[in-house]
Order: sequence, then structure tokens, then C-alpha cells
Amino acid sequence: MPSAIGHAIFAISLSPFRPYKNKLLPSLILAMVCSTIPDLDVIGFEAGIPYSSLMGHRGFTHAIFFAILTGILVSYLFFNEQCKTYLDRIQISFFFFIITISHGLLDAMTDGGLGVGFFIPFYNERFFFSYRPIPVSSMHIEVFFTNVGFSILKQELKFIGFISCFVVASGYYWRKYIFDKET
Ligand SMILES: [Zn+2]
Repeated sequence: MPSAIGHAIFAISLSPFRPYKNKLLPSLILAMVCSTIPDLDVIGFEAGIPYSSLMGHRGFTHAIFFAILTGILVSYLFFNEQCKTYLDRIQISFFFFIITISHGLLDAMTDGGLGVGFFIPFYNERFFFSYRPIPVSSMHIEVFFTNVGFSILKQELKFIGFISCFVVASGYYWRKYIFDKET
């Protein structure tokens, strides 16, 4: 996996694409939570759940189905006021779906571990993309504070930082010249 920092940075870069006015701070906090929550499945290692099982690491919580449920849940828990029509509900759910699935997409670009179970619970195959520039980071927090851990983090942040800059710039352009003019 990329580190939680990498996932959060990319998710934050998506925030200008939020399909509602204002609410920047809650959006940033929710982006960080939704993009890092899939890795809570590492708890399963302690509980003896095999990596390759449905509920194993990079399994259900990294799937498209989980991201859809998370998007819908976030829209109901935090954005009822903004959801005046079904279309609002769909757009806000879709935005948080994208943020949550960004985790699995970045994991599928790492160079280690098992692939991502995008289609769980319907199909338990694991996938990687053919382009995998992100070094896999350790699940043990103490490794971050070693030279190896730090150089992995640097390499990861170089790639994620680069695409995040591009995403955030496009987002601001969209927000300023398209979204704000239409709403
Ligand atoms: Zn992950």
C-alpha cells in the first residue's frame, strides 16, 4: 500500500471537485477519512484472516462495492441539507465514491503485496495495473522512521504529489470557470 499520507494527499487534491458550495473543511476531513479507511482491514492480520480472503487486506474494503456504500453513507450522514434532489444525492455519493475508490486505484499501482479485489463480493480475483510506479510501504509504523522507510515514502510522495498537483489544478479550474458560473 502507499502510506496513509499518500492516500490522504491524493484524496485532498480531489476536493475542488466537490459538487456543492462551501463546506471545504468537512470535505477535507471526510476525504482523509474515506481515503484511508480501507486499510483498517490490516486489523484482520492480527485476527488471523488470510490476506487473500474476501475480508483480507486489499479485499472487501478496497472494492468498488464498498466505495459505493461509503459514498451513499457519507451523503446521508453529512450532506442531507445539500441533497435537495435525487441528482444532488447521486452527485455527492459519486464524489465520495471516487475518493474512497482512489485508495484501491493507488494500491493497484504499487509494486508489492497481493492485488486489489475490486469486484469483491461478486468476484474474488485480485488486480494490479500494468503501470506500478509506487513502492509498497510497510504496514508497520516503526519502519517509517528508518532510512529505508523514509526513502520509500519520498519516492511514493514524488509520484502521488505530481498527480495530485495536476488534479488540484484541474479541480480549481473546473470550480472557478464551470461550477461557480453554473450554480
Ligand atoms: Zn490499501
